Amino acid sequence: MTLAPGVPARTRGIDCSGLLRAYPDLRRHACDNGRHLDFAHELADTETVHAVEHLAVELLACADGGDRTVLRGVTGTPTDGSRVHRMKIYGTRSPDVALSAVRYAAEILGAYYTS
Ligand SMILES: [Zn+2]
Repeated sequence: MTLAPGVPARTRGIDCSGLLRAYPDLRRHACDNGRHLDFAHELADTETVHAVEHLAVELLACADGGDRTVLRGVTGTPTDGSRVHRMKIYGTRSPDVALSAVRYAAEILGAYYTS
């Protein structure tokens, strides 16, 4: 995934409480962030693609047939200074469905940036 020009790399300007009100189950997401923060706290200042990953997993879980016991995502951080992130979504029925969820999650997240 590559962030579009103008999309902040981090979530500092996001309306976290609004997003968490709209998608309350994001609070229950397990998150391997290396800082022992639950995702609700991690959301306040993390890579935007990381937030997209969690929201995409949540959208898939909300969809008919989404299975929270197998759905999960992983996002890699580029080490070469680029904005190209590798994201893998596990537990979906098809890669096309996962890609659609990622794109939709990015659109939704963009609406929650306040600055
Ligand atoms: Zn996470």
